[in-house]
Amino acid sequence: MGAETTATYGQPGRVTLLADGLWMIDLGFQGREGVIAAYLIREGNSLALIETGPSSTLPQLLAGIRTAGFEPADLGQILVTHIHLDHSGGAGVLLRHAPEAIVRVHPIGAPHLIDPARLVASATRLYGDRMEALWGEVAPVPADRVVPLDDGMPFAVGGRLLTAIYTPGHASHHVTYWDPEGSMAFTGDAGGVRMAGTSYVCPPAPPPELNPDVWAVSVDKMRALRAERLCLTHGGPFADADAHLAQIDPNLAELRALALRELRGGADAARLIAAIHDLMAERIGTDDPDALTNLEWATPSYLAAAGLTRLLVKAGDVPASA
Ligand SMILES: [Zn+2]
Repeated sequence: MGAETTATYGQPGRVTLLADGLWMIDLGFQGREGVIAAYLIREGNSLALIETGPSSTLPQLLAGIRTAGFEPADLGQILVTHIHLDHSGGAGVLLRHAPEAIVRVHPIGAPHLIDPARLVASATRLYGDRMEALWGEVAPVPADRVVPLDDGMPFAVGGRLLTAIYTPGHASHHVTYWDPEGSMAFTGDAGGVRMAGTSYVCPPAPPPELNPDVWAVSVDKMRALRAERLCLTHGGPFADADAHLAQIDPNLAELRALALRELRGGADAARLIAAIHDLMAERIGTDDPDALTNLEWATPSYLAAAGLTRLLVKAGDVPASA
C-alpha cells in the first residue's frame, strides 16, 4: 500500500486516507475546500483514479497523487462517471502526465472525450467567458486510450473487481462505480451533492439531459447495492447510504415544483436562480456560510435554473418563452 499520509480533511489539494488502498484527493476547486474530489485506488501494483476534475485543478490532483505516495505516471486506469467538465474535463491534460493510463467512460460519453468540440461549445453557452477560469484547458483524449464501459461490466484494479453501473438521469451517459469488496459506491453526480457535515442531498439539475424519471430508476439501482459508504465527487464520503439516496427523488421533485411555481408566476431567470439558492440555503441545515457557498460552487443555482426550465418547457408544463 501507499506511503503514510498526513491527511487533513477539507484542505484544498490535501489527501485523506479513507480505507486501506483508498484515498480521497480534495482538488481545491476555486481555492475552496470540499467542492470537488477525486479518489485514488491502489491494489497490488495497480493504481486507478476515479474522476479527474477539471484541468484548472490539475496541480492539486498531481500533488495529491504524490502525497499519497505515487507518481501520476503510475496511473493505469482513469475512471470517469460522466463527461461534465468538473468530473473529467482534465482527463486529456492528465494523460500527458500518465502515459500508460486508459480512460474508462460510458460509450455515449466516449466520443466527447475523444473530440470535446461539441462539449466545449455547449459548456461555453452555459459558462460564457468564465470557461477558462472555471475549467482550464479541455484537451482531447486519444481514441486508443478510451475504453467504453458496458452496464454491469466488471473490471479489475489489481486483484480488486469494480463494476460500472449505468446510472443515467443527471446525464444520459452517467455511470456509478461499485466496489463490492469495500462496499463502496462512487456515485459521481447520480448520488447527488452533499457538503461535509450537512444532511441535505442536492440533486444537480443542469441542462440538457436532466430526466427525473430515468434518474429515479438509477436511484433504485444504487440503493439496491446496499453500499456501506457512498463516495461523492462533490462532498466526500458518507456512511448513511440509504437515507442519503432516499433524498434524491423528493429533493429533485421539490426543485422541479419550485421552478414550476416560479415560472408560472412570471419569474425571470434571475428570480428563479435566487429562489433555488434560497431553497438550498433553507434546506442545507447549517449556519456555516462556507457550506452553502461550497454547495453553490458544486451545483450552481444558475445551472439548476437552466436545467429545470428546459425540463418544464420540454414537458409542456410552461411555455417555451420561459
Ligand atoms: Zn454532472
